[in-house]
Amino acid sequence: MNNLFKILGEKQYVLADGATGTNLFAMGLEAGDPPEPWNISHVDCIRALHQGFVDAGSDLILTNSFGGNSFRLKLHNLEDQVFELNKAAAMIAREVADGAGRTVVVAGSIGPTGEMIEPHGLMTAKQATDAFKEQTEGLVEGGVDVLWLETMYSMEELEAAIEAVEQFDIPVCATMSFDTAGKTMMGVTPAELAKRSQGLGLFGLGGNCGVGAADLLAAIIDINRNMTDDTIIIAKANCGIPEFHDGSIVYSGTEELMAEYAHLALNSGARIVGGCCGTSFDHIRAMRKAMDEHEMNDLPNLQEIEENVGELSAGSKAILTGQSATVKKQRRSRRTR
Ligand SMILES: [Zn+2]
Repeated sequence: MNNLFKILGEKQYVLADGATGTNLFAMGLEAGDPPEPWNISHVDCIRALHQGFVDAGSDLILTNSFGGNSFRLKLHNLEDQVFELNKAAAMIAREVADGAGRTVVVAGSIGPTGEMIEPHGLMTAKQATDAFKEQTEGLVEGGVDVLWLETMYSMEELEAAIEAVEQFDIPVCATMSFDTAGKTMMGVTPAELAKRSQGLGLFGLGGNCGVGAADLLAAIIDINRNMTDDTIIIAKANCGIPEFHDGSIVYSGTEELMAEYAHLALNSGARIVGGCCGTSFDHIRAMRKAMDEHEMNDLPNLQEIEENVGELSAGSKAILTGQSATVKKQRRSRRTR
């Protein structure tokens, strides 16, 4: 049985992992350098990254392969190592997961190409699909349980990626990254993602990265409202809000904040919850505790989100207030039980 199905049978709520990039920088990866070569040159560091999250309680870990497509690797003259780097990424995560003594899912991380599909850019949809297919071949060979498209911002590129990954007999999950306007960089709203992805065969769907944890919750609520089937919802928020300090980005989220975010993400309808940029092992440990103790409650409203995890951007406020009638209706009906 596939480990993703297995864990969903074992647990009501599944805890994903935290940041890859932020934690690798802490281990010495230089800004601007690609993390994927570390799957071969720094195996111990990548193993320690996965082991840290598994020890903190993660049920699902993402491979170190986010930028492992030929378009991204070409920027570092590594485009002929796509298969090898992705296979290595999957094998390290597989080894840690299989040694955990409990079910841990290995998700093969696939990020965007960084190019735009024509007419916005020079890449054709077929070139995108071919690149994603090449990357997926390596991840599948290395033993991933699920293919995990993340931080996507263009519906066209997401569809090109799905066309590539659906050729493999493995479940597919996808998350998009929404910014302060409540949309992706290419203008996709959470509601549109939910509607347009119906029928694409995704097993899980949701949001990751973007701005802060509060904004991600607004996106999850919007996806939940607009979904008509039983696709699993995924929330993988940044650890608080990114802030510039002395020329580098730091994340403001505390362990308490990420624990609150985990509670609210579950109440918003997510079943797989994790952290994105800035999320450390300690944050994941706090989220594990929160999720183990969680009691399902009402869909959170704007005020509850802002009080517990921080201020919402204007775009997220519009998403929540534009639909406030729906929120009130649900809250009333819950109280009458
Ligand atoms: Zn992120």
